[in-house]
Amino acid sequence: MNGQLNQSVMVLKGIGEETAEMLSEMKIKTIQDLLEYFPYRYEDYRLRDLVEVGHHEKVTVEGKVQSEPSLVYYGRKKSKLTIHLLAGRYLIKVVFFNQPYLKAKISMNETVTISGKWDAHRRTITANEFQAGSSTKQNDFEPVYSLKGGLTSKGIRKFISLAFQQFGSFIEETLPDSLLKKYRLQSRRDCLKAMHFPQNQEELKQARRRLVYEEFLLFQLKMQSLRKFEREHSQGIRQNYDLERLQEFINSLPFPLTNAQKRVVNEMLTDMKSPFRMNRLLQGDVGSGKTIVAAIGLYAAVTAGFQGALMVPTEILAEQHAQGLRQLFEPFTVRCELLTSSIKGKRRKEILQELVEGNVDILIGTHALIQDEVTFHRLGLVITDEQHRFGVEQRRILREKGENPDVLFMTATPIPRTLAITVFGEMDVSVIDEMPAGRKTIETYWAKPEMLERVLAFVEKQLVKGHQAYVICPLIEESDKLDVQNAIDVHTALSHYFQNRYRVGLMHGRLSAEEKDSVMKAFSRNEVQVLVSTTVVEVGVNVPNATIMVIYDAERFGLSQLHQLRGRVGRGSDQSFCVLLASPKSETGQERMRIMTETNDGFVLSEKDLELRGPGDFFGKKQSGIPEFKVADMVHDYRALETARNDAAILIQSPYFWSSSEYQYLRNQLEESGVLEGEKLD
Ligand code: ADP
Ligand code: MG
Repeated sequence: MNGQLNQSVMVLKGIGEETAEMLSEMKIKTIQDLLEYFPYRYEDYRLRDLVEVGHHEKVTVEGKVQSEPSLVYYGRKKSKLTIHLLAGRYLIKVVFFNQPYLKAKISMNETVTISGKWDAHRRTITANEFQAGSSTKQNDFEPVYSLKGGLTSKGIRKFISLAFQQFGSFIEETLPDSLLKKYRLQSRRDCLKAMHFPQNQEELKQARRRLVYEEFLLFQLKMQSLRKFEREHSQGIRQNYDLERLQEFINSLPFPLTNAQKRVVNEMLTDMKSPFRMNRLLQGDVGSGKTIVAAIGLYAAVTAGFQGALMVPTEILAEQHAQGLRQLFEPFTVRCELLTSSIKGKRRKEILQELVEGNVDILIGTHALIQDEVTFHRLGLVITDEQHRFGVEQRRILREKGENPDVLFMTATPIPRTLAITVFGEMDVSVIDEMPAGRKTIETYWAKPEMLERVLAFVEKQLVKGHQAYVICPLIEESDKLDVQNAIDVHTALSHYFQNRYRVGLMHGRLSAEEKDSVMKAFSRNEVQVLVSTTVVEVGVNVPNATIMVIYDAERFGLSQLHQLRGRVGRGSDQSFCVLLASPKSETGQERMRIMTETNDGFVLSEKDLELRGPGDFFGKKQSGIPEFKVADMVHDYRALETARNDAAILIQSPYFWSSSEYQYLRNQLEESGVLEGEKLD
């Protein structure tokens, strides 16, 4: 760290205790903090042709006044001043609210400059800034800072300017020459300055470009050092699986593996056999066949003399997996046991006992599995399904379970590439990017709620053919209770609608495990034809005869979740359908519905979801381990992220990086963050 820049902001003229206090509320303590307190946006005062300006965008125009200003008062203090302005080729209206005094400053045929919000439909600017004559702004841009306490924009700008005057010359370069040259990046000093006092758009762009790259590079160096460290220092286990038995198992499957499955299986097996510890993320869209990959991994562990564990987020899913795996493994004398929180008493004790003794080969269960009462005899492989539901912390507990078992995290919510390499940067990633052959795409329609009758008639067409239907109920934010009530209401209505023709079942989170179980069983045996449900069916449930899903209030769901839900149909050989009932008000809402009808590709949807909702919302409200960047934006700067990632990978492997003085600063940063000792990043 640079001694000069590390001094308290109080060394600046005009900053006393009080101001320092206010600044520290904004986490600005040192000169460096101040210099790196970047504007969150810039006011753009460039004169623009109105043709380029979108509806409701902010704009600055210069023009000639074409009418005497007309002033109207309404209420005691409210007024509206209107003028007509010829701006370039456009005759537009300009209105000023509650600034009656401007009337005296504006006269016919004079030139004025105004800034405000452009209403493209009414061809009107609602102005908030006025200047007589041509624009005299020195800068096209004015930085806007987020402020706290009593600090003003002007104040912070003054302090930052002072900091540059006194300490600008102490700002050191952090990136080596070679990289600066390679990407034609400007010096750190110039870039910091340009962030605060940009002369023009281009300067700002160049400054951002450099700082984004630096931020990503450092981040990637940290992630990859951590990964390298973990690989080299964690005592992994070598699982010498029996290839012949494994091949036999694969041959016994009712279908050949897809190429993607083969590739992913190989990546997993290579990790298992190596002395390193596997820490791998497996991404694959709904229905891409992850379960089989998991089964192969688990069986490999068993043939190597180890135990395997499969963890899933819900009991229903655990039961389904247990059932499925038992079937697959039946000819191979593999003992699978199910452990969930509803398995209690003597039975539970028994399973736990058998587990310690090593008589259970594979344990399937919910999170309950990672509770500490569960001890394995010789745990070799842990697989978690629907991974992103588990927090960062659970990921860690899991990794610490047993004698350094290999760990595979599976997720059916395709994670956008940028998020995958940031949030899961310390892991290896495998992707199943191919669907089993012959899979039909699910035809998806977007219907207005008013069309419910027609939608139900459409559903009935499927029922007449002997198929079954899911009806997913409205989601009410954060309230399980209301969700349930909704489901009950829909169930009542549909029971009435289909009475004497079809049986309608009800599924929601408030049912007991036994109740859920019996509803699911009835549905999978086709004793119930229409299943009304909350989102509890989201994950995993497999009833191939169900060919249609109706989703109420679809606009309330995120794209990824809709895609997950939709994945419950289209599991058999028949054409399946999904109907989204929605009347979204916002444009993004409408866009979401449109995208759903246009693609079945989970990766495309996840990228869109990220774009529309931003990284914070992607994983839901809970803390998700998404790092915060000062300048960089994972979504918009993804190219820089990829570049930084590749560069980091090369650097980490190069002895030059670890020894040359060029990289001293970056190495220091790694050291300070603790990743070189294998400490966890937060
Ligand atoms: P997911 O990735 O969503 O967990 P599953 O593992 O449940 O997907 O697989 C979905 C369906 O596809 C299952 O019925 C499974 O038996 C089937 N399946 C998996 N792999 C293949 C394959 N290679 N060829 C044909 N069907 C497959
Ligand atoms: Mg699955």
